[in-house]
Amino acid sequence: MTARRIGILGGTFDPIHCGHIDAARAAEEALGLTRLFLITSNVPPHRAAPVASSYHRFAMVALVVSNRPTWFASDIELRSAAPSYTSTTLQRFHGEGYAPAELFFLIGADAFAEIETWRDYPQILDLAQFAVVSRPGLPVAELRHRLPSLADRIISIDAPTADVSATDVRQRIAAGESIAGLVPPAVRQHIERHGLYTTMSGRLHGED
Ligand code: ATP
Ligand code: MG
Repeated sequence: MTARRIGILGGTFDPIHCGHIDAARAAEEALGLTRLFLITSNVPPHRAAPVASSYHRFAMVALVVSNRPTWFASDIELRSAAPSYTSTTLQRFHGEGYAPAELFFLIGADAFAEIETWRDYPQILDLAQFAVVSRPGLPVAELRHRLPSLADRIISIDAPTADVSATDVRQRIAAGESIAGLVPPAVRQHIERHGLYTTMSGRLHGED
């Protein structure tokens, strides 16, 4: 049996975009991942509520994994009413028989910069291997410099990823601008067909 090397990328995915996909692909290649779970978060404790519903956010992730046999859309965090904590999620993977050494928690450098505020820090660093992916404008080297005590506890993945954030995507839509190239075509089509992120609350509500 080949060794299991499981990537986990959590996010609000409001919506999932090319930066997420580039980060996941870079990690897949750098770490030799055998599977990747994209975990759509419930309302994260430290952030404003998402704009699109969990159903739409998950649906867009499902579209992204549909032609990638080793990628999976996980609803593990959406199934519980409580806010998502990464430590709880990682412990649930352990409960399913995965060892911390088999789990690679992928995280962008901007998100990792706040790790000290996370629930169960610093023990959380032992629940999986943390693989920090550079984000345009924030190379992992800078982060190592900023958090020197953590430098030898993380794996760095310095790869170019699309310079896009979900906030940009939402703002462009609200401003009537194109999001071509920022999200995969299937995601763009889903957003447009359902009227997500327009100033209206959505096509269904905007019908009357
Ligand atoms: P928002 O603008 O709403 O915060 P976002 O684009 O940052 O959205 P999230 O769902 O918050 O997306 O991000 C999930 C994870 O993906 C985080 O670890 C984040 O750092 C990482 N990530 C997001 N965009 C990129 C990118 N362009 N390159 C590398 N990592 C990214
Ligand atoms: Mg973010």
